Amino acid sequence: MGHFMKPLNESEKNVILHKETEAPFSGKYFANRAPGRYLCRQCGAPLYESSAKFDAGCGWPSFEAEIPGAVKRLPDADGVRTEIVCAHCGGHLGHVFEGEQLTPKNTRHCVNSISLVFQPAPEDPASAGETAIFAGGCFWGVEHLMKNFPGILKIEPGYIGGQVPHPTYEQVCTHTTGHAEAVRIVFDPAQVDYETLLKGFMEIHDPTQADGQGPDIGPQYRSEIFYTNQKQRQTALRVIELLKRKGYPVVTRVTPATVFWPAEDYHHRYYERAGTQPYCHRRVKRFED
Ligand SMILES: [Zn+2]
Repeated sequence: MGHFMKPLNESEKNVILHKETEAPFSGKYFANRAPGRYLCRQCGAPLYESSAKFDAGCGWPSFEAEIPGAVKRLPDADGVRTEIVCAHCGGHLGHVFEGEQLTPKNTRHCVNSISLVFQPAPEDPASAGETAIFAGGCFWGVEHLMKNFPGILKIEPGYIGGQVPHPTYEQVCTHTTGHAEAVRIVFDPAQVDYETLLKGFMEIHDPTQADGQGPDIGPQYRSEIFYTNQKQRQTALRVIELLKRKGYPVVTRVTPATVFWPAEDYHHRYYERAGTQPYCHRRVKRFED
């Protein structure tokens, strides 16, 4: 570690060596949601995974846990707080707070952006395609009815659109995390286009039912399209408009994609494994072509 890190400049020294605090909302990373990991600015040691990052609203990058062994806790010179430093080089990171009830781990590493270097995750060659994310009721049914479309490289159920990192099914079912049940589809644009998948999605669930799907009632079953680029957004708005002109009072929301949390293994391919058919979803033709 360390050989590739540049020497610290003056503002970096003020924080990393002299334990000053950068102004809130001033750093590079407090709003960063990209997948990857955060390294120590001074020595390059990996400190935090992006999956542990959450938005605490405080203006500094916040993490609910460190990479095991990467961070050392010390009593702060103020006699009250707990300082955190890089376990490898001792560089100052920030402070750790417990008992704030912000995440299930109840811990917030409040870290100066300037103490960190973000390393984006390498592109996953298995997901070289384009990603589509749809929420339309119980994800068992949506996955079951979408999985046989042509051009799908990967499909998986999960949670999106809420506030709590690493949500569990039980947490999502309490309706307190804000997540929707959803499926993430990686598809090959050479074999199928987004519009075809989107129209399929609008046929395999009822986009006119608010806050529920079939007998499943609650915000986790809402109808929502999470777009991953502007072209998907435009396509979604156009298809919804088309349905409205046909007389369907569509309630589907169109939202930029945030972190998608894959569901627990037992939710994957649920109906295939159970050998039964969905009770909540069936395909209804809503488009001519
Ligand atoms: Zn370090």
